[in-house]
Amino acid sequence: MSTLPENIASEPFWWEDGWKPKSPDGAPLPSSVDVLVIGAGLTGLSAARTLASRGQSVLVLDADAPGSGASSRNGGMVGGGHRLSISELESRFGTDAAVALLREAHIDSLEFAQSVIRTENIDCDYVETGRFRAFWHPSEFESAARELARLQERVPLEAVMVPKSRQRGEVASDLYEGGMVFPRHGALHPAKWVAGHLRAAIRAGAQIQGNTPALALGRDGASYLVRTPRGSVRAGKVLAATNGYTPACLGNLRRRIIPVPSFIVATEPLGKSWVRALFPAGRMVVESRDRHCYYRASPDGTRVIFGARAAMFDAPEGLARQQMRGLLAQVFPQLDEARLSHSWRGRTGFTFNALPNIGHHDGLWHAMGYSGNGNTMAPYLGHKVALQMLGDADGKSAFSKTAMPLRWWHRGSPWFLPFADLAFRVKDWQNNRRRRG
Ligand SMILES: Cc1cc2nc3c(=O)[nH]c(=O)nc-3n(C[C@H](O)[C@H](O)[C@H](O)COP(=O)(O)OP(=O)(O)OC[C@H]3O[C@@H](n4cnc5c(N)ncnc54)[C@H](O)[C@@H]3O)c2cc1C
Repeated sequence: MSTLPENIASEPFWWEDGWKPKSPDGAPLPSSVDVLVIGAGLTGLSAARTLASRGQSVLVLDADAPGSGASSRNGGMVGGGHRLSISELESRFGTDAAVALLREAHIDSLEFAQSVIRTENIDCDYVETGRFRAFWHPSEFESAARELARLQERVPLEAVMVPKSRQRGEVASDLYEGGMVFPRHGALHPAKWVAGHLRAAIRAGAQIQGNTPALALGRDGASYLVRTPRGSVRAGKVLAATNGYTPACLGNLRRRIIPVPSFIVATEPLGKSWVRALFPAGRMVVESRDRHCYYRASPDGTRVIFGARAAMFDAPEGLARQQMRGLLAQVFPQLDEARLSHSWRGRTGFTFNALPNIGHHDGLWHAMGYSGNGNTMAPYLGHKVALQMLGDADGKSAFSKTAMPLRWWHRGSPWFLPFADLAFRVKDWQNNRRRRG
């Protein structure tokens, strides 16, 4: 490990590399709008674009700079996924709804994101790189192959199994027990992706305001009165698009979302040939273990961007960096001496059933709960919920059926995450032991 002092930026690498979120000058707030959207990330901006392009007056408020939440902090990996097994999905929702969920998660959301890139001409370094899902445990290869065959009977998803003997063609690490490749998955620059949504929403006619948190919501007949530090706005409809940052004023939703942090580091430039040697096929890499390391080359191919669940809670920066360094060196021992240039974090929004949900409750609409997979799902479900708000039949989505379960002990503040962290570490230790046989 290098002993030279490092100067590590605590803002996302993406903000320096492509686009940095900035609040627009504070124009006066309108006194009333058709729709007020709370949260200017991929969900809120996608919904705003759809609503404004269909003639609605739309105001999007963000507590911070628009785009500065998870949407501009993430790993930039693009492609669908599901966290529950097909059997679990079918037993909870029935066969038809399970197939619809899988289809939307794997196919429709990706096609929607690609169509937005094309129609809005968004320059976000999008490349169809393919994704390698790396298996942690030797027994996973057989079970994943069976599950993939079942999935492919239900949705037209391209994927191929890669045995350990061919793993080095995907990633220069011997840590894994083979994996599978999703060739249609891709990579983008997340800050440029959300910036593209911001511009598209503005072009469609939406008004976006930063540094303007929604503080309280009250009903006034059929409409809502949303209080902010800059005055109140009357809105015919309100959409909550705050995912892992859901505030106290959205208490009913906050109780259904678990704000799990995810941590990322970027290395200093290592040189293109070095990085190419680490990712010989240029893939995004995601692990199956609970630590859930995910990593890739930077869009210019000179650095490694490495994310992981360093902790389940907002761990102190020193601890997070130490964990991240350890995990990076475990995956790529050849990077033991590599210096880091950036280390940052963001909040993912998990639900208790690990499924996103869209819908409304007592007149308040929401789209959230992407459980770590939002680059395609957030724009897609933002669009779907906007159509539902307009009463458009094209807004139909199986994610209206997923609900967001409650737990009596989650009252809003995620007090339990440090305990979950401990349980997670024990599980990690057990997994490692089991793996070594
Ligand atoms: C570190 C990290 C890595 C990830 N990697 C990937 C990846 O590689 N691929 C992938 O598909 N997904 C990834 N994700 C998940 C993905 O980034 C999210 O699912 C997605 O960005 C969610 O978008 P969103 O618009 O719903 O929420 P966000 O982008 O988080 O936006 C929510 C907004 O709500 C605002 N807000 C909060 N309270 C208020 C209030 N009172 N008033 C007004 N505004 C408010 C916040 O300021 C914030 O800007 C990752 C997430 C993280 C954190």
